[in-house]
Amino acid sequence: MQLIFLTILFLGIFAQMMMTTFHREEMKGVAHLALSHANQIATQLTAAIKLLADSGTVACSQEDQHLMQDILHINHFIADIGRIERGMVQCLTLNKLEGPLPLPKAQYMSNGYSFVQRYQFEQLPRHIPVDLTFRDNVIAMTAPRAFEGFEISTSYTVEIRSASLKHTFERLGDTTLPKIDPVGHLSRLLIEKQCSDKPSLCVLVRDNHPFIYHALSGPTLGAFMIIILFILLSYKIWGVPVSRDKQLKSRLRKAITHGQLSLVYQPKFVLKDERIQGFEVLCRWHDPLLGSISPEVFIPLAEQTKQIRQLTLFVIEQSIQDMARVLQQYPEYTLSINLAVDEYLTKSFIERVTEIVKKHSVNVNQIMFEITERSSFGCQDVVSVCDVLRMHHFRVSLDDFGTGYSNLSWLSDIYTDEIKIDRMFTHALGTDTIAGRTVNMMLDLLEGFEDVTIVMEGIETPEQVDYLLKRDIAVIGQGWYYASPMPIEEIKAFIRRHSIRNII
Ligand code: C2E
Ligand code: MG
Ligand code: MG
Repeated sequence: MQLIFLTILFLGIFAQMMMTTFHREEMKGVAHLALSHANQIATQLTAAIKLLADSGTVACSQEDQHLMQDILHINHFIADIGRIERGMVQCLTLNKLEGPLPLPKAQYMSNGYSFVQRYQFEQLPRHIPVDLTFRDNVIAMTAPRAFEGFEISTSYTVEIRSASLKHTFERLGDTTLPKIDPVGHLSRLLIEKQCSDKPSLCVLVRDNHPFIYHALSGPTLGAFMIIILFILLSYKIWGVPVSRDKQLKSRLRKAITHGQLSLVYQPKFVLKDERIQGFEVLCRWHDPLLGSISPEVFIPLAEQTKQIRQLTLFVIEQSIQDMARVLQQYPEYTLSINLAVDEYLTKSFIERVTEIVKKHSVNVNQIMFEITERSSFGCQDVVSVCDVLRMHHFRVSLDDFGTGYSNLSWLSDIYTDEIKIDRMFTHALGTDTIAGRTVNMMLDLLEGFEDVTIVMEGIETPEQVDYLLKRDIAVIGQGWYYASPMPIEEIKAFIRRHSIRNII
């Protein structure tokens, strides 16, 4: 999913880069055209003004009027031309004046020329704003349609500026957008600038629609950053470059330290009369992103990453706290806690557990540790773990009996209070399979161990119960047939219902 997302993003960026390169070429063309056009206008204006100023004809005389008419005739970018005296426009060629017109104040001056943009002489019959250029005693008006026919796409904003870029003579393209900032951020990327010496003019062309421009300016910058952050986080969380194993390990570490693990309890029953005998606490991990992860996955992972001690201590502390009242109320009940045999079973660990049990006023004898041997541990390690725990008056159960490395030969060495026959044998009960025959042999043999309780794990059907009852053997049953593992509040309600039923 992240890979698809990243591919789309990179394809988008690549397409954008291609488009930007293409636009760049187009912008250069637009700038070149606009500059040549502006040059023509400026050249006509300056040449016409110079010609009239240097003509030596008497201002506004008939001869002067003829000259001005000739000038207008050949310079089609000039709308009108006239004479100035003492700050007043004395005469124009096309517009007949009833009297002198006051000259507006120059907005910009360069090389002896003064410029006024979009000016409207109110005394003139046609009120169209025009651009004025004046020097010495000559004034010229640029034709309002000087840039007409010079179509520029609204994807661009074009500005014809003075060489210093301070004054803008004309704006074209999309003129609704703000003025071009030639030194603003990303200007090198988005603005094309071309200048000419004579006349000294510059043209700026801005690309108004590049993705990158919108992404990196204004509020969309935030959205862009969030997407980038999302990608980076997804790398961290889902670990595109990180393996699922590594990612699971790091999330498990967080789950343990942030208390995201929870516990459920599954009751165990005396088969004969369906009395509750005790409970097994089982750890659960629901990750917000990865969903529920089975203990078959995260327990070995915690062992590998040396986090099992912290996890076990959490299970011990939380479950004893949860079940303290129940254990005090029903002294015959036991609480079974799974213990992975590991090198951590130190003196300090035993002391810590004893402390927790004492703190919650629970009888040490009611706490049973279920031991599952791991491949790296031999029989002697299991024997010593069992001995240490029993020395401290805890009970010990040999979990998943019949699987892995535990076998019947161990029984001569290990002193244990309980043996839990693995659920694969329970499922084979009454079947004519190797497992079916083996479980019968196990039961025959274990019957002879008087002080050892036999627990059948994973009882799911009434047939399995019937089969065991017919064998008339003292067995404890645990499985979905009786009850599934439940959170603490549910198990407490279950105990209440069960006690009432027993009383009745
Ligand atoms: P386990 O100690 O043998 O626990 C019994 C497993 O059988 C549990 O699986 C339980 O939910 C499941 N089960 C109960 N009734 C039935 C049934 O009728 N049919 C079937 N098919 N399964 C049933 P769960 O909770 O997935 O735990 C798996 C294993 O993970 C446990 O096996 C135990 O070895 C380990 N584990 C769970 N919690 C802890 C823990 O807190 N610490 C340690 N060290 N190991 C734990
Ligand atoms: Mg167990
Ligand atoms: Mg088991």
